[in-house]
Amino acid sequence: MSAIKQLMTKSRKIVLKIGSNVLSSDDGTVNKVALHRLVEQVKELMDQGKQVIIVSSGAGICGVGAMDKWSRRNDINYKQALCAIGQVELMMAYKEFFSDFGILVGQMLLTGQDFSDDQRTLHIRNTLFTLVDEGVVPVINENDSVSVEEIKIGDNDTLAALTANLWNADVMILLSDIDGVYDKDPKKNKNALLLEEVHDIDVLAEQIDTSGRSAFGTGGIVTKLSAAKLVAKHGIPTILLNGKKPDILRNAHAGTETGTVFFPR
Ligand code: ADP
Repeated sequence: MSAIKQLMTKSRKIVLKIGSNVLSSDDGTVNKVALHRLVEQVKELMDQGKQVIIVSSGAGICGVGAMDKWSRRNDINYKQALCAIGQVELMMAYKEFFSDFGILVGQMLLTGQDFSDDQRTLHIRNTLFTLVDEGVVPVINENDSVSVEEIKIGDNDTLAALTANLWNADVMILLSDIDGVYDKDPKKNKNALLLEEVHDIDVLAEQIDTSGRSAFGTGGIVTKLSAAKLVAKHGIPTILLNGKKPDILRNAHAGTETGTVFFPR
């Protein structure tokens, strides 16, 4: 059995991070078809007795869809305002698609401060457990409109990792627009080599080229490595998969997809 299939089969508590590239169409607007398909697959996982927390990027992209004239504004207040608008659009899509299956979603917008304050962390944890236990799917994002540099988590890979640790997840799944970690940026190097199993992230980081970034993403592969490291410390494995592929979760579960698995040591 493939390592991915094995992990997905035995994991009950899943933190699923959906990257902005996964949710964006080529024209920079939100890809609702892709989102709908992912929601369908999350529902299938839930039918199999799994619990899922979603950490979703894409508020900025949804904002541009709604307020196109702001798309080139680079001032921070406009960027944050755009995320405030886009977050509603994003959640409306999640709500609509999940409600087809009679499933409710609950939105949680968090900042770095929330994870450094014991009292707040306890409340987040209790809210997450309550939502999930009641069959609601939490959809988490960074609270971009209050997140100035000092309190920013900065990327949703790290936010997903903090969430996975807090909730004691069995696995963290990161969906991006590449099949996994390569020895160099696969978008720029046709002969880049996919690394399917990682046992030591520090050693890996020294061996590969991590410099490339994509148009909509924020962290690049670097934040995925550090997020995987963060959860590995708590004994949680990470699977990095290509969320652009239409049936990625379904196929990963069936063992017919490749990706990168980060094993905790
Ligand atoms: P997301 O929005 O899904 O979080 P990012 O754009 O932030 O995604 O990060 C993923 C990108 O990192 C890939 O699209 C790829 O171009 C880039 N990248 C750079 N180096 C590597 C590497 N060694 N292996 C895989 N991807 C890499």
